[in-house]
Amino acid sequence: MKKKVMDLNSIKKVNRSVLLNILRDHGAMSRKDIAAISGLSPGAITIIATEMLNEGILKEAGLEERNGKAGRKKILLKIEKTHKFILGINIEKDTTTIAISDLNLTILSSKELATNANVMPENFLNEIIDNIKDLLWKLDISKGNILGIGVGIVGKVDPNTGKSMEAYGIWNKEVDLGGFLSKSLKLPVVVDNNVRSLAMAEINCSKRKNIDDFVFIKHGPGIGAAIVINKKLIYGSENQAGEIGHIIVNSDGPQCSCGQKGCLEAVISTRRMKKTVQMAFDKSTTPILHRLCNGDKGKINTSLIFSAYENGDPYIKKIIDDNIKYMATGIINLMKTLDPQRIIFFGELFKYESLMKELINQIEQMLCKESIKNKIVTSCLEYKCKAIGPLALALERLFYETGAIYK
Ligand SMILES: [Zn+2]
Repeated sequence: MKKKVMDLNSIKKVNRSVLLNILRDHGAMSRKDIAAISGLSPGAITIIATEMLNEGILKEAGLEERNGKAGRKKILLKIEKTHKFILGINIEKDTTTIAISDLNLTILSSKELATNANVMPENFLNEIIDNIKDLLWKLDISKGNILGIGVGIVGKVDPNTGKSMEAYGIWNKEVDLGGFLSKSLKLPVVVDNNVRSLAMAEINCSKRKNIDDFVFIKHGPGIGAAIVINKKLIYGSENQAGEIGHIIVNSDGPQCSCGQKGCLEAVISTRRMKKTVQMAFDKSTTPILHRLCNGDKGKINTSLIFSAYENGDPYIKKIIDDNIKYMATGIINLMKTLDPQRIIFFGELFKYESLMKELINQIEQMLCKESIKNKIVTSCLEYKCKAIGPLALALERLFYETGAIYK
């Protein structure tokens, strides 16, 4: 008897999840059209929709445009974007970003803090918790209106337990992020690697472009990738699939924070790039950068380095072209292994036209002139808020996958 109840509950969950996903992918829709797409009967959709309207998850959104056709207009349904709010935390080597959004992933507020790797992880997490409480207080949102928390962090993560196994360059030990945050804030928490979380947000916008298989590459401050096949993230046996940052591109290369030598990340991180540029910085070697910085070495940042490249600073061009060559090598290896529909780039570097052109040139040269232009695109995600990935992760795992059934 108990088993039957369980089964009915899981059917309900699946049906609600199907309905929510249809509304996400197609926008406002009538009950009849939802039924046609879902394969469920119109009667079943009416029952599910009524339940979700009563719970405030859906709302009625006016009448369908009929283009002069006769007959009764159908009432459209849509997801109530303020039914719940989401908290997102993105932890990277230098900065941690906290944000709150609605169910459309529109950011209501966000805050950046310096990632403090010099204290016990619990102490830094308490600092994050204080900031979250402050954010909720300022927006006058109660905890009851929060769907849950998504956390994205660099390095090895076990999404099943919510543990950060090794956050390279931040903590060199296992940290139970999910357990600590859910216990302290009494909210559901989902945790994943930061690049995979971002790829989750990318899946949302790629769906509309019919891209099912892609490799998502993030550059700055390190380099990481996430593999998406058939719209699903690939994890691997130890949740390390897509760790492009730690493939070895030069076995005599510099020491990486993961312990290996000559990892792609150790060679082309923005930190290393900045250091190399700082060492060479002077009026005659890097004239354009020197002018852009008004001669002040302290002002050097990635934006100025990339601008100097764009403006033809010869030494900067040499340094960055070397970086791009290593990056191209890593990308080709991934392309040859996975043969994805697209390679999607995320990061400041890819916003510069001449840098993208150089990267494509280098890849094509190594591939013996095979054209890859139609395979390479830049991300459709906003660069403004780094917590967009963790927000999308929580939305997927705690809303769309659960059919908005909260325990
Ligand atoms: Zn490494």
